[in-house]
Amino acid sequence: MDYEAVIGLETHVQLKTKSKMWCGCANEFGAPPNTHVCPVCLGLPGVLPVANDEALRLTALTGLLLHGTLPPRAKFDRKNYFYPDMPKNYQITQYDQPSAMGGYVDFEFADRIARVRVTRAHLEEDVGKNFHFDRNSGVDFNRAGVPLLEIVSEPDLTNADMAYEYLNALKEILIYGCVSDCDMEKGMVRCDVNVSVRPVGTKELGAKIEIKNMNSFSGVRRALAYEIPRQIEVVKNGSKLIQSTRRWDDAAGVTEEMRTKEHAHDYRYFPEPDLMPFAPTDAWRAEVQARVVELPLARKQRFMRDYELPAPDAETFKNDVPLGDYFERIAPQARNPKAVANWVINNLRAQINETGTALAGVKFPSEAILELVSLVDGGRISGKIAQEVFAEMFATGDRPVAIVERKGLAQLSDAGAVEKFCDDVIAAHPGPAADFRAGKTAALNFLKGQVMKLSKGKANPALAGETLERKLKG
Ligand SMILES: [Zn+2]
Repeated sequence: MDYEAVIGLETHVQLKTKSKMWCGCANEFGAPPNTHVCPVCLGLPGVLPVANDEALRLTALTGLLLHGTLPPRAKFDRKNYFYPDMPKNYQITQYDQPSAMGGYVDFEFADRIARVRVTRAHLEEDVGKNFHFDRNSGVDFNRAGVPLLEIVSEPDLTNADMAYEYLNALKEILIYGCVSDCDMEKGMVRCDVNVSVRPVGTKELGAKIEIKNMNSFSGVRRALAYEIPRQIEVVKNGSKLIQSTRRWDDAAGVTEEMRTKEHAHDYRYFPEPDLMPFAPTDAWRAEVQARVVELPLARKQRFMRDYELPAPDAETFKNDVPLGDYFERIAPQARNPKAVANWVINNLRAQINETGTALAGVKFPSEAILELVSLVDGGRISGKIAQEVFAEMFATGDRPVAIVERKGLAQLSDAGAVEKFCDDVIAAHPGPAADFRAGKTAALNFLKGQVMKLSKGKANPALAGETLERKLKG
């Protein structure tokens, strides 16, 4: 019997806000331990939380970016548990009335567009961080109370690679929407994975195994690549899987059991008494709606459709938004957008990277690239000379036409001048000339190359080819 995996993901993302969720402390990574703390985020008795409006907006915005809906009313709840990283002994979260419901993420996977449905997105707070030293342990509460968004997917994923691509797509969307920086190194994104297996063709879900708290997408992929065959092996051997929580040991490359269902936590959720339910006004919703941006996949598809770009170019402009915006400022006027894309990607990007120039600091106006493409397409200069012109444009900011004039780079389309180069080349290379006459047509390319070399790249290549052929056959 064949088995298939059923995977759902819970993705936790730190929101890009200036301050924490319930207090005015800075939401900043990397500060010395316990320097961004106050009575509220330390959970001292008698303090009251005040919800961060921007965090609520970013949560609602995420709901819209994921094609979900915003319920008329959301509320906060207490999730009770005891652990040193949470000074209040409860976490404020959204239990049964989250800020955003439903939706989906579309992403490219295995040469098609895959869709994973989103169950909900809810707002909660991050916890502190435990540090263990040789003789004692410490807790840094700088992270306690940082706004944390949890995005729960439906169990629509079927394998490790698909989960990996979904997470990347989700991350791109959140970065596009300025919801989160999603800096993995700084732990801004963490995932819990739910995975079960079942015989192919059956509908009933197998025992759900949760793998907790992974902080890299490649870790998720490797954990699933280990866990799925493990579960299939267990059921194939006639054993039963039981619902449990496992831990991914990245160094050993294995998952190991943490606790089974019998020991599952009872969080005793109840409505947070210190916070009013949140019912956004129409004006508030409209302001959030105005922050919805074009999604990464839609941008890529639009670049392919509107400018007839191949997928890799569109992908580059999806990943490098400022570069894509630069391209798009000139592309609508271009007769040959693909050539414009080549200059922007292969030359402009290479030069700005090499010289450490910001895109805004490029000396020539963007239209100069259109001019350069016209010069090549119109046969005024060769592609090789165009490279030289581009380097000069980049260094001086001068327009391509002015550079071609000043340096005398215009292509030689004067038949007499080209003829002279051809005569010289045939005289200097009697061997290849004889080869061509004997039927080795490839020899013509060599001779043409010599004409280009002799003319320092200025001879019109098509004219050089025709002239050589005429002379050799004549
Ligand atoms: Zn605080």
